Amino acid sequence: MRVSFLGVGEAFGASANTSLLVDRRLLLECGPHTLLQLRRLGVGPDEVELVYISHLHGDHFLGLPALLLAFREDGRRKALTLLGPGELENVTEELLHISYGKSLGELPYKVRFLRAGGELGFMNYRLSFAPTRHSVPAMAISVAGKKKLTYACDGAPTEELVGLASHADLLVAEGYGGGAATHSSPLLAAQLARRAKVRRLALVHLWRGLAEEEVDRAREVFENLFVPADLETLEI
Ligand SMILES: [Zn+2]
Ligand SMILES: [Zn+2]
Repeated sequence: MRVSFLGVGEAFGASANTSLLVDRRLLLECGPHTLLQLRRLGVGPDEVELVYISHLHGDHFLGLPALLLAFREDGRRKALTLLGPGELENVTEELLHISYGKSLGELPYKVRFLRAGGELGFMNYRLSFAPTRHSVPAMAISVAGKKKLTYACDGAPTEELVGLASHADLLVAEGYGGGAATHSSPLLAAQLARRAKVRRLALVHLWRGLAEEEVDRAREVFENLFVPADLETLEI
């Protein structure tokens, strides 16, 4: 399984918005910076099969109109699946309208909406979900094929998330910090990684004001931890 960190940033920082690309087929999150990062990786209009939106905060979904219309301009004909909260279809339709006066029906390819929850199969992957504690409803996702990736999205860890991440080859977790009750931190992410017995932990979505010592302290709890950079790719 190949995981590209298109972006590792929070909403208002100097890194691209947090977004992952799995096997160049599954896009997890689509913030305002995501299309640019896909372009930088040279991802073609037919490569992405599914876009997952964990929750409706701008840094996670406001890139959808540009992505959908860029696919149109680049000649996409293949159907696309959008997976996320129940409101995602209405929100996407509204966003297309507000931003470019367009609608889903005008796209030359089909967009299918799936609601995140439970467990579902997509291509050769098994997708499963768990809620986190965030300021709006948010769902972490596990993508399992030959390997297992868990993306913890925004929010403080929950017991369900510990189960979801169990024995993952890679856990990508936010470490926003700053003491917010509706966010995780490097330390909470490290404790989650340890309890879930994952192989590696990537810390993303770090607050722009976070002290580096917080990451060092987290490493004392879970050693196999790293902070990826925008556009870093690794094979898990
Ligand atoms: Zn965010
Ligand atoms: Zn958020």
